[in-house]
Amino acid sequence: MKRTKIVDLLSSTEYGKEVCVKGWVRTRRGSKAVNFIALNDGSTIKNIQVVADVEKFDEELLKQITTGACLSVNGTLVESEGAGQSSEIQANEIEVLGTCGADYPMQKKGQTFEYMRQHAHMRLRTNTFGAVFRIRHNMAMAVHQFFHERGFFYFHTPIITASDCEGAGQMFQVTTKNLYDLKKDEEGKIDYSDDFFGKTTSLTVSGQLEGELAATALGAIYTFGPTFRAENSNTPRHLAEFWMIEPEVAFNDIHDNMDLAEDFIKYCVRWALNNCQDDLEFLNKMVDKSLLERLNFVVDNDFVRLTYTEGIEILEQAAKEGKKQFEFPVYWGVDLASEHERYLVEEHFKKPVILTDYPKEIKAFYMKQNEDGKTVRAMDVLFPQIGEIIGGSEREESYDKLVARINELGIPMKDMWWYLDTRKFGTCPHSGFGLGFERLILFVTGMQNIRDVIPFPRTPKNAEF
Ligand code: ATP
Ligand code: MN
Repeated sequence: MKRTKIVDLLSSTEYGKEVCVKGWVRTRRGSKAVNFIALNDGSTIKNIQVVADVEKFDEELLKQITTGACLSVNGTLVESEGAGQSSEIQANEIEVLGTCGADYPMQKKGQTFEYMRQHAHMRLRTNTFGAVFRIRHNMAMAVHQFFHERGFFYFHTPIITASDCEGAGQMFQVTTKNLYDLKKDEEGKIDYSDDFFGKTTSLTVSGQLEGELAATALGAIYTFGPTFRAENSNTPRHLAEFWMIEPEVAFNDIHDNMDLAEDFIKYCVRWALNNCQDDLEFLNKMVDKSLLERLNFVVDNDFVRLTYTEGIEILEQAAKEGKKQFEFPVYWGVDLASEHERYLVEEHFKKPVILTDYPKEIKAFYMKQNEDGKTVRAMDVLFPQIGEIIGGSEREESYDKLVARINELGIPMKDMWWYLDTRKFGTCPHSGFGLGFERLILFVTGMQNIRDVIPFPRTPKNAEF
């Protein structure tokens, strides 16, 4: 018999029908006469109840039905008498596909997230991680749907690259050489000429530069792929390997860019509310009691928009009046810490905030320079619980100004020639941003640690599984 997924069985009213269900045992309880098995197959957070009359089955078989075991059950779909469930299965045949011993790491309920991380290969079987990863899938679908509906093209930028987009030098090197065998030149510098690519290459920190090439040809594009940053920041919001979505649009200015960012996030959150109800209700109950309220709030309210300079004034005022004690000092020019961003969002405005026009010293070389000579047309979207969820800008389209900034910062020009060609041949105003996919998932699931919203997190000193 062909198996039916539990999500479909639970919404079916074809009572009396013979069905086959397969899945993993969550619990088994019962009396001398009858056993109740809660079975889950990952298609939904909900379990289906399998009712097994003890007299119909071998005692040895029933003993094998332990938490974590995998079963195939043929039985009759019946209307459930128990509260809170629509249908259940009266078992006729049970086959144990895989037994599961007491050393199953997800045996006990209520383990800490830290414990789960150490068993990340098995945590996928739990309710919480099932919910998180079904939502993660849904958010990926929402991302593609959002851009597709608006005529953006999904553009694949390379993962191996010879340029450092952010200029922050936080890159993982790619080489086929045993590092001890690398040739050195007369000055003792490593000579990569006989390495695979014949030069230094790394894993990309962003697809933006190639994205700009595409935007100035196809008009509007987005990337959605893995990015790598060797930043040694052990925070609940940083991964060494994370997924980023980067739209880039010709002829958009910073205001269009802000509108796009706000629409985009709201679309994704609305998608979750419409398509992930069961999982969100579970997370709202078990992980974060104000999750649904927060998601609805973001969808229903406009984001606040103000300049970095105005933001600094608010923060300085709060510190001066003793309303808030910050660990890191606030002054014009400082790269805002998460505590500053969260104060603006969670305590001052109580709304998502878009900060614009940052000091050029703390932002990347490609951002459009303002008339004041001090600031650039950057925009960061700041969210409750998260801090920065999006970083973006209008790009500097003037060849001369861009080259001047590159020289000022001492960025090696020879690596940038192809990027500068966008400004040399038919340059145009354009804008874009990067959204960290896992930061979006953190927000939408209410989970607290970014390690718990990617299946197998990569962080300093951790590349297990
Ligand atoms: P942060 O200040 O939080 O480190 P950033 O300024 O380095 O962020 P950008 O370079 O602007 O971030 O990258 C765009 C987006 O990518 C960020 O807004 C964030 O959502 C996400 N992001 C950046 N670094 C990481 C990371 N290490 N892990 C997960 N997401 C990240
Ligand atoms: Mn960073």
